[in-house]
Amino acid sequence: MSVPLLDVNAQNHPLESELQAAFNRVLQHGRFIMGPEMEVFEKEIAEMVGVKHAISVSSGTDALLLALMALNIQPGDEVLCPAFTFFATAGAVSRLGAIPVFTDICPICFNMDVNDARAKITERTKAIIPVHLFGQSADMDAIMALAAEKGLRVIEDGAQAIGASYKGRACGAIGDFGTYSFFPSKNLGGFGDGGMLVTQDDDLAEFARVLRVHGSKPKYYHHHVGANFRMDTLQCALLSVKVKHYAEYTAQRQANAAFYTEALLKLPGVVLADAAHCKCVEAQDTWLTAQEARVVLPVSYDHNTHIWNQYTLRVLGAGQRESLRDHLQKAGVGCEIYYPLTLDQQTCFANLPEASRVGCEISHRMANEVISLPIYGELTEAQRQEVVAGIASWLSA
Ligand SMILES: *Cc1c(COP(=O)(O)O)cnc(C)c1O
Repeated sequence: MSVPLLDVNAQNHPLESELQAAFNRVLQHGRFIMGPEMEVFEKEIAEMVGVKHAISVSSGTDALLLALMALNIQPGDEVLCPAFTFFATAGAVSRLGAIPVFTDICPICFNMDVNDARAKITERTKAIIPVHLFGQSADMDAIMALAAEKGLRVIEDGAQAIGASYKGRACGAIGDFGTYSFFPSKNLGGFGDGGMLVTQDDDLAEFARVLRVHGSKPKYYHHHVGANFRMDTLQCALLSVKVKHYAEYTAQRQANAAFYTEALLKLPGVVLADAAHCKCVEAQDTWLTAQEARVVLPVSYDHNTHIWNQYTLRVLGAGQRESLRDHLQKAGVGCEIYYPLTLDQQTCFANLPEASRVGCEISHRMANEVISLPIYGELTEAQRQEVVAGIASWLSA
């Protein structure tokens, strides 16, 4: 038996009749662009994350782009974002001619190091994009305090964290804007591309809605240059079917993570990331060496509700991560490296000012150590056991 990294069919096929009914409703009324199902789905998401406004858009990437446009980010403006994230976070900044300035990350939760962000603020810095990577919140109190002190806007990239929370508040609902993605591999996975922009601010919401339709209001009268950022009615209708099951999907992922953590901790050389050593990498290294650690398991900070978009191990020692990856692949256990190259190291950003690409050493190290395991909700007991067995046989080889 093999274990795929992700199996979208296992989640979608049990909903086949409900999905077909939704498709038929849209087929019958024929309002494919901004039809009634769009508003329904937007309301469902707004309610789920506790915000006033949810604006459906063409993708998580476009949600970021639209947020930056609605905040009037201009060419030459600087926007802080972590070096260790999916490309879109910085790509959206760059598309507006603004400069992504990369910050390092915390090696425990993989999210933005807020002290490093503070050190990289200049008079050109306009906004900050914390990413809630792998389904766990960034340090939002520190980020919001820094933004308030320096007059920066905050866009939360919640592509991997819809339904996650920080001190009881939904990820995405805390900054000026939050963005989500419905790419099929995300926790609320759609049937193609889609995304959502959320905000508590009436004026920002109104402006974003106008920019979503080429900046026109009324139709054919353009005071601003926007673009086509709309999400299909059909996609909204289909996702409305899945959103009703979302709490259950999250609970399954959390159960899988708990299973892995418990089972893997019994193996020699496996330790849990120690939040006590978050702030000092040197102390952490000393501690890991003393533990004779080879694999570090991910943790959720107590104040966070983690939704486990990924369950990501750190594999210590040169070449060890590749060795584990090859071993798991041979054993038929799906795994993937998110992400093998940090954003400050990408060729397309090589011509950015030097100052925007410095001091991301922890990010570089994580890019060499991380590997993610299958964590999707529909994994069977036997599959989860097989993943653990694959790691166990590597450790004892
Ligand atoms: C997936 C993802 C995006 C982009 O979402 P798309 O819907 O694929 O455009 C942005 N940021 C992060 C962190 C992501 O994981």
